[in-house]
Amino acid sequence: MKKLNKCAILTIGDELLIGQTIDTNSAWIAQQLNPLGLEMIQRIAVGDSKSAIRDGLNYIRQSADLIFITGGLGPTSDDITKPFLCEYFGGKLVCNEAVLEHVRHYFESRKRVILESNLRQAWVPDCCEVLFNQVGTAPGMWFENNGQIFISLPGVPFEMQHIVGEIVLPKLKPLCGLQNIQHRTIITCGEGESFIAERLKTFEKELPRHIKLAYLPQLNLVKLRLSSSNDHEEIDRYFQKLQQILAHILVATEDIELERLLSRILTERNQTLSIAESCTGGHLAAKLTSLKGASSIFKGGMVPYSIESKINVLGVPEVLIEQHSVVSQEVVESMAFRCRSLYKTDYAIAISGYLEKGDHDNEVWIGLSSSTMLESFKIHVRFDRARNTIVTLTVAMDALRKFIIKH
Ligand code: AMP
Ligand code: MG
Repeated sequence: MKKLNKCAILTIGDELLIGQTIDTNSAWIAQQLNPLGLEMIQRIAVGDSKSAIRDGLNYIRQSADLIFITGGLGPTSDDITKPFLCEYFGGKLVCNEAVLEHVRHYFESRKRVILESNLRQAWVPDCCEVLFNQVGTAPGMWFENNGQIFISLPGVPFEMQHIVGEIVLPKLKPLCGLQNIQHRTIITCGEGESFIAERLKTFEKELPRHIKLAYLPQLNLVKLRLSSSNDHEEIDRYFQKLQQILAHILVATEDIELERLLSRILTERNQTLSIAESCTGGHLAAKLTSLKGASSIFKGGMVPYSIESKINVLGVPEVLIEQHSVVSQEVVESMAFRCRSLYKTDYAIAISGYLEKGDHDNEVWIGLSSSTMLESFKIHVRFDRARNTIVTLTVAMDALRKFIIKH
């Protein structure tokens, strides 16, 4: 078989078409295939109907030699992918003993009644290789037809990911040309993408044609990715240069979440953090505690949302709030200071502001406290509540990162 080169994804499910389920499978699969040097040329979503699946497949196979298919493998009547593919590739369904045994065991060990429809999961086309599903009951299928490979996988993301990681990728690797595509990503915070593009005008002009620069803007954060199919020394040289030009707004030299970066910095320094967040309602604490090992760096936090709780629980002096208003520099600094002494941590961050337009400006104060420093600053947020929360968290985490490394 010639080396694989172009790939495509067909996702199946009415729920994808109406937006009830967001197609995360395609994005995940694409991320896995990229390092193999495969070029992703198409991603198509179709509904749960034979004719739509047939049309989708016929279209996609005109140009791709590796085709991923997800969805429609469940035991219910709307799941028609398996019988369809069996017919499409001219096979017949046969019972696979290993899958049957696995499905039986799956239900028995969970003390669940096994239905006829569950047992049907063990019937697979005789013209495919079965991709055993260790973590669910619907097996995946690998078809080869006309020099093309078709890989059909369950829609449930973690089952699909398990099969791809354990079986599909190891099988695919030797079949790929491995034109190794290198990526380098930096994260910046503090300037918009058009501003950055201005700064990078000369850099972009000097970039060889085979090195691509992509701008990936998010709320208050821009990621820049360099991609090249050449050797890594060349891309590393340009990557260094990129970092130098954007040093003043550089957050990270890898694609990493800010909470993970913060957590890593605190872990390396063996230091701890506490949080007093009012308007963000616990979102910052939730981000940090979503990471493994959080307990070694995060000691605790509170959401003193009302004025009373700021005074009675956190211990902000009432007079400060009377004199300066509840959203003010003095109050947020006091919140950070009180939080740090209550939780006995190396650092504390406090967030308090108005995330939505009311009788006041949409402003958020962020306070940072360490044993030797107390700092604060104000940002203006200009979107809706949800997006303003994201902006606030991004700015807060970046400020905290800078505050910590200043020490
Ligand atoms: P199915 O294999 O079609 O029975 O899908 C099982 C579950 O996986 C359903 O809850 C789907 O909403 C979900 N699912 C199916 N396709 C996708 C996809 N492309 N991305 C994320 N979830 C999906
Ligand atoms: Mg479905």
